[in-house]
Amino acid sequence: MSQERLPEEIVAILENMFGRRNGALALHEPEFAGNEWNYVKECIDTRWVSSAGPFVDRFEREMAARTGAAYAVAVVNGTAALHVSLLLAGVKEGDEVLIPSLTFVATANAVSYCGAIPHFVDISGTTLGMDAGAMETYLNDIVHFDSEGEPRNRITGNRIKAVVPMHTFGHPMDLDPLMELCLRYRLELVEDAAESLGSTYKGRHTGTFGRLGAFSFNGNKIITTGGGGAIVTNDAELAKMAKHLTTTAKLPHRWTYMHDQVGYNYRMPNLNAALGCAQLENLDQAIADKRAVAERYVERFSSMPGLRLMTEPVDCRSNYWLNALILDQPDPAMRDRILQQTNDAGFQTRPIWVPMHRLPMFEHAPRMPLPVTQRMEDAVINVPSSQGLIHC
Ligand SMILES: *Cc1c(COP(=O)(O)O)cnc(C)c1O
Repeated sequence: MSQERLPEEIVAILENMFGRRNGALALHEPEFAGNEWNYVKECIDTRWVSSAGPFVDRFEREMAARTGAAYAVAVVNGTAALHVSLLLAGVKEGDEVLIPSLTFVATANAVSYCGAIPHFVDISGTTLGMDAGAMETYLNDIVHFDSEGEPRNRITGNRIKAVVPMHTFGHPMDLDPLMELCLRYRLELVEDAAESLGSTYKGRHTGTFGRLGAFSFNGNKIITTGGGGAIVTNDAELAKMAKHLTTTAKLPHRWTYMHDQVGYNYRMPNLNAALGCAQLENLDQAIADKRAVAERYVERFSSMPGLRLMTEPVDCRSNYWLNALILDQPDPAMRDRILQQTNDAGFQTRPIWVPMHRLPMFEHAPRMPLPVTQRMEDAVINVPSSQGLIHC
């Protein structure tokens, strides 16, 4: 088969898998098959719809239980979870924070909200997560320890405070070598686990490897609260501070409005937590269904020359949140033809994010050489991955 016919071949396979489309087949749709309606109705009936209520506490307990973290704090969205996690990890104005360039903009924005500077690192072509091997060589070059023993960027002079790995499309990145780098270079590890609820690395849940981890329950994630997020940690003190900081830093009192610092109104409303409790009850089913959808993709596309499908890395269990085709030969023109033809045929597909170092607000941020990031930008195509596709 000639590479030229790749777009037509992909459309033919998608039509074979899911039928010819009249309307568009979404990239990712939420599934409400359990107690969602009951729990949301309960909020309305009891009038507990807003910033406090029993479902918030329950959702936090169940998120902690599910991830194996000691504590979870529910917040308005994943970006807020990242922002507060970074603040609690000690990220200060003028610090640099190492993040992948190939991520959703929230990771970089959260660093900026702290007055800090994102410092972009390259990824592995296998996991699409941070490449600790390439980072090691780079950090060896640019990090020096100041008289206080703090790691600094020898070019900018800024302190390098933290690393934020992200688990792309739900596939865990290789955390062991990264954690070793964190120890050696005295960097705080804060995980962006927004896409990886239900995914484990060597048997342990993603998001629980650093001091703090952030999850998202946006409408397109594996479970949704409408909009929402959570901070997880094993540290009781950090959990207390996360709750305090995300609830306007108000001191508990029956009537007095006393706040002891500039806090954030980042709490998750009870209405959203109710949806989350129902969604968590079906998380195992969601993961099983999405694995089955991914297996169907692998079955259909594995014999197709010119591309591969992303599959879970060794020693990992992936939630298979979003399936991705990866072109063997990165080629923006070919990628765009595939996007055009699949979308025209009613299959919602999309490229991976424009890398952060090419966005106008981050183009002057420090970065290591990013060859894999650049290749992957031209090679990745996400395909419809809803749990409901199991019935197609
Ligand atoms: C979804 C997502 C977030 C957080 O998004 P919110 O919409 O704020 O919940 C952060 N990082 C990544 C990688 C994401 O995919």
